[in-house]
Amino acid sequence: MLSRIAPVLLGLAMCLATIPARAQTQSALAGVPAEVIEDIVIGSRVLADFGVVDGFGHVSARDPRNPSHFLMSRSLAPALVTADDIMEFDQDGNAVDARGRSIFLERFIHAEIYKARADVMAVVHTHSPGVIPFSVSRTPLRAIFHNGAFLAGGVPVWDIGQAFGTTDMLVRNNEIGRSLAQALGDRPVVLMRGHGDVAVGPTVKMAVFRAYYTDVDARLQAQAIGLGTEVTYLTAEEGAKADTINFVVLDRIWNLWKQRVQPGLAK
Ligand code: MN
Repeated sequence: MLSRIAPVLLGLAMCLATIPARAQTQSALAGVPAEVIEDIVIGSRVLADFGVVDGFGHVSARDPRNPSHFLMSRSLAPALVTADDIMEFDQDGNAVDARGRSIFLERFIHAEIYKARADVMAVVHTHSPGVIPFSVSRTPLRAIFHNGAFLAGGVPVWDIGQAFGTTDMLVRNNEIGRSLAQALGDRPVVLMRGHGDVAVGPTVKMAVFRAYYTDVDARLQAQAIGLGTEVTYLTAEEGAKADTINFVVLDRIWNLWKQRVQPGLAK
């Protein structure tokens, strides 16, 4: 009897050993709603399309199955991210099932912000060119138009050198990530001196929206300052009111952005 079953078992074992990586990836993220994965993919590609991220930058979401974990692409240019590239990370930024895939050095940005901010469901890190001047000068980034309303409560600037001295500027461990999360406080955006920014939100869509409009707002503010006369910014009260509308119109703009990047999505 056993001699007849043995070849079948051997065949089954060989079959399991050759399951393609794609199927394994999907089973590793079983139970994650497809739209969460899709939003990370679409968001990464949209931000690349707008030049807010280039070869660097990343979009993550809190893991709906386990709120102390988060989901983020393997180390890859955002424009190239597909659903199969999304991996699970634990609360300290360790890959749960790396299987040889390379991961982002700066994943500690995400890990420490999810730990510090229970309200944050998505985190975006960019080196967006528009914000860099405001990260290194004494001119604070402010809300200059209604789409940047979420900036009206103030935008902190985190300087890695203040706590860590001379570094390579990267958030390469949990301690540095914690310092950044502290500087973010309860705000939606923090600038990183000589590096970029982090935008957070209650959804991936809103975090991506904020990352994009932080860059647009910064560019417009620099232009307005260049006109040479006094600039009138949104007040905190105007910002609070205008940001409510941002949430209302978010799906409309997201669907437009999705159209921009969907033809290029790898199947
Ligand atoms: Mn970076």
